[in-house]
Amino acid sequence: MKFATKAIRVGQEPDPTTGAVNVPIYQTANFVFRDVGQPNAFEYSRSGNPTRSAYEKCLAALEEGKYGLAFGSGMAAVDAALSVLRPGDHIVSSENIYGGTFRLFEGVAAGRGIRLTYVDGTQPEAFEAAIEENTKMIWIETPANPLLQLVDVRAVAAIAKRYHILLAADNTFSSPFFQRPLTQGADVVIHSTTKYISGHSDVIGGAVVTGDAALHERLAYYQNTVGAVPGPFDCWLSLRGLKTLAVRMKKHEENALAVARWLAAQTTVEGVIYPGLPSHPQYALAKDQMDGFGAIITFRLPGGLKAVERFAKGLDIFLFAESLGGVESLVCHPWTMSHGVMSPDDKQKIGITEGTIRLSIGIEDVDDLIADLEKALKQTAL
Ligand SMILES: *Cc1c(COP(=O)(O)O)cnc(C)c1O
Repeated sequence: MKFATKAIRVGQEPDPTTGAVNVPIYQTANFVFRDVGQPNAFEYSRSGNPTRSAYEKCLAALEEGKYGLAFGSGMAAVDAALSVLRPGDHIVSSENIYGGTFRLFEGVAAGRGIRLTYVDGTQPEAFEAAIEENTKMIWIETPANPLLQLVDVRAVAAIAKRYHILLAADNTFSSPFFQRPLTQGADVVIHSTTKYISGHSDVIGGAVVTGDAALHERLAYYQNTVGAVPGPFDCWLSLRGLKTLAVRMKKHEENALAVARWLAAQTTVEGVIYPGLPSHPQYALAKDQMDGFGAIITFRLPGGLKAVERFAKGLDIFLFAESLGGVESLVCHPWTMSHGVMSPDDKQKIGITEGTIRLSIGIEDVDDLIADLEKALKQTAL
């Protein structure tokens, strides 16, 4: 089965009791036992629920893993991936990561005795150079948020294998439609399913997928023990979104490519970054390891905060909001929003300036998107 078919069929057999074509929302906390010591397929919805199970199977298939686990948020999924570590263990992470992941690393994991070293993710050798005796995990996000640097997954996976270190990859920005890190040597893939997977900005969720049975067992133990699970309705919404992932991603990318080319030709913006532009320093790697370039575009407005304010006010179709990956186009200001938790110095160090703008290109008519940007940029320049 190919991707678009898997998205619609895997885990989604017609309901055995009614023949319902869609997996029902099994909105129940518990399930009766057939007899003493004889549970049915499900017992209690923290441990497992049929709607969640259908969604988890589909996620695993799309990432070409064997096991999917759904969580109540992307952050809960990141936390679950870290649960395999012990005090004293060390993580080598690329420095360009989601702001909330950085906060979890520094504000929670560090307090539990996990040590971190951040390296330039574009340099595979940098990961190797930072490995210590107790390094147990390498963490990557590619393309990275918000400056869209890529990590060479195969190169870093080779290093991880050599040192027997787990490679964890946050695949939120690409979605499994454009990139499947497990097939390139990653051990575990993490998602904020809030983004492209659910795709409609109407649910918060996360997922962890792996092909390794032993790793899955530990992660599933943590999922059930800590209980940061999504409810049946959230799973159903996410599964409903997931069905159209293939068509959405194609349209997201088509629009993003057109917007990126248009932006790159404007004199009123600087430094347009999009992995699908030949000007991206890792364009060749993007073509090699991804099946598509995604739909996040970053650029700088000369003129700092004032210019950002005028630009945001000038937009009608683009919504000024956190998040990404929904059908609607969004504009985000990483300095004050997604990376607001980082100090100005830390932000500057990784290349985020006051004028940095991140666009999440939706699936509206691209002519309307470009016209909206054109109008806002005119107003910014006034
Ligand atoms: C949004 C996001 C997260 C966190 O996910 P939530 O669903 O908001 O908890 C993690 N990683 C990346 C790359 C994200 O974009």
